[in-house]
Amino acid sequence: MTQHSSGARAQLLAFTGGTLDRQSEKRGEDCIVAALDDPAARVLMFSGNKLVLRDAASGDNGQELFAASDIAFDPASALYLGRDAAGAPRLAAQAVFDPDALPSGLRLTDLRGLIAQGLVTGPALGDIAYAAALMNWHRANRFCARCGHANDIRAGGAKRGCPNCGAEHFPRNDPVAIMLVTRGDRCLLGRGPHFPPGMVSCLAGFIEPGETIEDAVRRETFEESGIPVGAVRYLSSQPWPMPHSLMIGCAAEALTDDINHDAEELELCRWFTRDEVRAMLAGTHGEGFTAPMHGAIARHLMEGWAFGQA
Ligand SMILES: [Zn+2]
Repeated sequence: MTQHSSGARAQLLAFTGGTLDRQSEKRGEDCIVAALDDPAARVLMFSGNKLVLRDAASGDNGQELFAASDIAFDPASALYLGRDAAGAPRLAAQAVFDPDALPSGLRLTDLRGLIAQGLVTGPALGDIAYAAALMNWHRANRFCARCGHANDIRAGGAKRGCPNCGAEHFPRNDPVAIMLVTRGDRCLLGRGPHFPPGMVSCLAGFIEPGETIEDAVRRETFEESGIPVGAVRYLSSQPWPMPHSLMIGCAAEALTDDINHDAEELELCRWFTRDEVRAMLAGTHGEGFTAPMHGAIARHLMEGWAFGQA
């Protein structure tokens, strides 16, 4: 497997590069309480699935980091994320304010807006992805999947445990295959009905039970476009914490040209030349087609191919 893991290219993938030491093997059941007792602790605050940001950075803290005393939060929602490079504890929690009556100096952003607007960049986005995906999983898994009893946070959020039947449940990622399908000097892109006007992107879909990544690439590509796929090659991956996906980026070789696309899934699916993709990335495509936003793995795959780096 090859991976774009070095230097500037890796930084082009939003939600990667988190730096927290998760302390996975060192967590006691009191780790949240102990972390909150440390005045150096910093908390990523959420309101539902939105992140709370300051309007401006404050001292050494980025816009996304708060002391535990800065904002009231639900203590039962608190999750321990680990320690930062200086050894300070890092947590995530649900703020308790009314989102329609925000304290001054604060705002809420969904995570897509966070990267689209460049509000937070670099490794801090990786930490936010970790916090958001974990928070989203906990919010959706408050009852035991085995017996239905209310369960509770264990090991600071590394798992949930059921006091009724003893089952333990661990945070999950939902794997998604996303593929740049090519044939010669053309690549296959489509647009879903919910996309912003003009935008086209790589085909993608959830990996289903019993499938390899390669199986999912071939099945999804055929279902959406009618194109059979031969060789599949892994390129890179990206956490996508909406709510807790892992995007697995692949290059895939089409075996035929004739598209027979699923009109319910895609309102458009067609071949684009390398020059067209370069124009899309530059915002100068003659027919007005545009690429996905900066930071998204789909754009990363398109860039790698268009400029010969994939
Ligand atoms: Zn149970």
